[in-house]
Amino acid sequence: MLRSKNQTWCIQVVSTGNIEGEEAEAHVRLRTLREWTPVVIRGKLLERKQAKNDTFLGMKMITDREISLTSVTPLNEIPNDIIIKQDTVFGPEQRHLQLRTDAELRNNIIKRQRAVKRARLELGDQGWKEIETPILFKSTPEGAREFLVPTRNKGFAYALPQSPQQYKQILMASGFTRYFQFARCFRDEDLRADRQPEFTQLDMEMSFAAEEDIMAEIERLLRALWFRILKQKTPEKFPRMTYQEAMASYGSDKPDLRYNSKIHDITQHLPADLISKITPLQQPTIEAFKISISDDPKVTRKFISNFLDSPDGKAFLENPDGQPGVFVGDQSAPMQGLGPLGYQYVMEGPEALAIDHGDLLILQARPTAPFAGGSTVLGNLRLALHKAAVAQGLMDAPDPHDYKFVWIHDFPLFSPSVESEPGQGGTAGLAATHHPFTAPKTAEDVDLLLTAPEKAIAAHYDIVVNGVELGGGSRRIHNAAVQEFIFRDVLKMKPERVEDFRHLLDVLRSGCPPHCGIALGWDRLMAIMCHKESVRDVIAFPKSGKGEDLMVKSPNKPTTEQWDTYGLQCNP
Ligand code: ASP
Repeated sequence: MLRSKNQTWCIQVVSTGNIEGEEAEAHVRLRTLREWTPVVIRGKLLERKQAKNDTFLGMKMITDREISLTSVTPLNEIPNDIIIKQDTVFGPEQRHLQLRTDAELRNNIIKRQRAVKRARLELGDQGWKEIETPILFKSTPEGAREFLVPTRNKGFAYALPQSPQQYKQILMASGFTRYFQFARCFRDEDLRADRQPEFTQLDMEMSFAAEEDIMAEIERLLRALWFRILKQKTPEKFPRMTYQEAMASYGSDKPDLRYNSKIHDITQHLPADLISKITPLQQPTIEAFKISISDDPKVTRKFISNFLDSPDGKAFLENPDGQPGVFVGDQSAPMQGLGPLGYQYVMEGPEALAIDHGDLLILQARPTAPFAGGSTVLGNLRLALHKAAVAQGLMDAPDPHDYKFVWIHDFPLFSPSVESEPGQGGTAGLAATHHPFTAPKTAEDVDLLLTAPEKAIAAHYDIVVNGVELGGGSRRIHNAAVQEFIFRDVLKMKPERVEDFRHLLDVLRSGCPPHCGIALGWDRLMAIMCHKESVRDVIAFPKSGKGEDLMVKSPNKPTTEQWDTYGLQCNP
């Protein structure tokens, strides 16, 4: 079977040893060639008896013609130690063979290119200009941990951009009104789940504009991508939800709206002795959600106890705020588990939590405090239980073509700083929730900077689909004095660190217009569009969970001489 160069089609080549001359030679040679040898062949295209199948290993097969071989010239050889069978699974250290043998993976990479092309077309039509910004930038405390690039000018280093944020704002002060870029971003962060140390964003910024303008542009762009690439319609306008509502109802700032069990605060409905049984916290908030697992309470009970005993359940059982309270609706058996909750509770509690026979009700305590961060324990449990129920066939898997977009907005401008994250390095115990260039939402929020900055709301929005944050952005501070006040007086950054941003402050001082922007995580967007869980399946050369490229084996250790070039020493 002769594969086409790009493996989209194939044709049968026939040769026989019975013929003399050139053909016989070709036949002998063909027999020595291993599968996957690149070749030039010559032959006669002949009609053949219609083949039974019209595909072969995922390729389109030519069914009514075959090639009668006259000559075959190998262009390279493939040694015996490389074994490529139909079912061989290659590791990431052989990415070329993964890509060569996995048509779906190759198609994802091609789909990605089509999406980039489509986005360029759509944005171009709307007057957006594609502009490149430097990769060698400088270290500034924007929020993420950076990669430094030492130079031979000893003691000096560039930093790789965590995003082109500052340059794109500078472009707005430079008279460009609509900028975009497929920007490579670099963040030296702990590599949780599916994060890559380098990733691609579709980065956009627009001047003389505010939140509504960007949201409308993104809705237009996503609609076009979904329509052109996935042949699917999306709503004209995406629904919106405040951060408070998302955290309260879904325990997540990226709610997966395909699952509809909502979380409810039931503190006021619970007797104190029950509360003390489920948490050591004083004055806690107790939240609950209901999930329908089965009509049979036995199945539900087995499901939840298996889950909590599994490695996925461990973190929930070890929660210092208390384990989840589990209640299974059962009309026949005496009440178990949270017996004191009783059916009387069901009457008093929110109607949405009324449980039927076989339903599961989960309670969880948390400290009574404003929401901060991306999720609550109960929000994580809500997702984990849905996923487990789907995996075990107790719940229908979400329709892969069901995309529930939602804008999350009204985030707090600042969040308590987390020790393990760099933030802006200020001493106020606060870090910008999005980044320190995000504007307070209203005049009242500007006033709060002076009195209670932790209460200020940001002009920040995230676009979320099916529980995945596709991107986020904000209206920016375009007034230099406000920006400097935030650095110095709110975040309490050291004067030297504020000076690292002097270029930006000078740019804002120069009559910079109001501006607003967003960045879409292109890898994640592509994973969603390709129905893939991992961004590794939509990146040609992704890094492993440890940030390594297992194929080229990076990062590697520079030699002593290489370190010397930069005036550096390595103390292992
Ligand atoms: N630079 C931001 C980020 O990387 C996006 C934006 O605010 O436009 O998240």
